[in-house]
Amino acid sequence: MRNTEFDVERARLDTPGCKNVLHFNNAGASLMPRQVLAAVIEHLELEAEIGGYEAADQARNAVDHVYDSIARLIGAQTDEIAIAESATRAWDMAFYAIPFAPGDRILTSVAEYGSNYIAFLHTALRRGAIIEVIPNDEHGQTSIEALRGLIDERTRLIAVTHVPTNGGLVNPAEEIGEVAEDAGVLYLLDGCQSVGQMPVDVSRIKCDMLTGTGRKYIRGPRGTGFLYVRRAILETLDPPFLDNHAATWAARDCFHIRPDARRFESWETNCAAKIGLGIAVEYALSWGVESIWSRVSMLAVLLREQLAEMADVTVRDLGSKKCGIVTFTIDAHEPSTTKESLSEKGMNVSVSTMNSTRLDMEDRGLKSVVRASIHYYNTKEEINRFCNAIDVIVSS
Ligand SMILES: *Cc1c(COP(=O)(O)O)cnc(C)c1O
Repeated sequence: MRNTEFDVERARLDTPGCKNVLHFNNAGASLMPRQVLAAVIEHLELEAEIGGYEAADQARNAVDHVYDSIARLIGAQTDEIAIAESATRAWDMAFYAIPFAPGDRILTSVAEYGSNYIAFLHTALRRGAIIEVIPNDEHGQTSIEALRGLIDERTRLIAVTHVPTNGGLVNPAEEIGEVAEDAGVLYLLDGCQSVGQMPVDVSRIKCDMLTGTGRKYIRGPRGTGFLYVRRAILETLDPPFLDNHAATWAARDCFHIRPDARRFESWETNCAAKIGLGIAVEYALSWGVESIWSRVSMLAVLLREQLAEMADVTVRDLGSKKCGIVTFTIDAHEPSTTKESLSEKGMNVSVSTMNSTRLDMEDRGLKSVVRASIHYYNTKEEINRFCNAIDVIVSS
């Protein structure tokens, strides 16, 4: 019922970009709602008018409130949230804070994000940690049985991606959390593509750390990301960098690290973007994450079904539960040329390449895929128009 009640017209009126483009690149960067844009511009103008520090003083409550909003979105506490300039930096701050010893094992998913995997490789080189990839089950998602079998006393971390950058797959984050809890192993979840499009609750998932980005499904400004760290493990993590926001210089030879998650932040920050992120989160909460999720999944099913019916088009999404990211290839057409053809018609998609998810792409013998990522402000009419455009490309 929720789908029919969703006020798409209002969502589109709030989204200036809808007038210009058919935007199926929400997994790249969503179109911002006008409310977010206004908040960012307003703060930049204030900085120009009265000074950057003075504007920050005036906006102190608004900035503090951003942490409350993010905490509410993911079922966390305010002091468990840190804000960063990207999800990758947020993830790095948590990952590089784990004191790995030689022989410590990191278990990760086939669909792991490239930047995360590079950090694993880096840590394997620097600290002698061992990377092990949890195989997928018959649905193409992380196998819980295989994960259980891989756990031993040297397992230091389970670090997996909830929704990969290159497909509709939704990994079983809660089931992974059960295993992590039973084994007493740290659990770091990359929620970049899931937060904002589906309910993500850290207490249900039981992850110790979670990262998200602002510009994707949350519809915030670029250059924003966040980190959640469970309060109970905060003190056990040693931030890779400290400055005089993350710590206080208490005496000539003494400093104290902040007790909250902001120990992972740096002093300097883009206040306007941070405020915009908070407004974007509040905006998402005003729609309700459950109703966003039911509309996104309903639209993605429609798009997937229409594409699957076309000759020469292969839908590439894995997993028993799928989300708003729809990936496909067209026989004898390079994904990059498909993207260009669509762009000429005012239709935005991305191409997902080997570099983002090498393990998964190699396993499936794919070099790249077209990624059409849907959000709740997209419409059935746009899906039809998009599929007609694909039809023209197929027969060209
Ligand atoms: C986009 C993405 C990231 C990186 O987010 P940034 O904010 O660009 O650092 C990490 N993981 C996944 C799965 C992503 O899709």
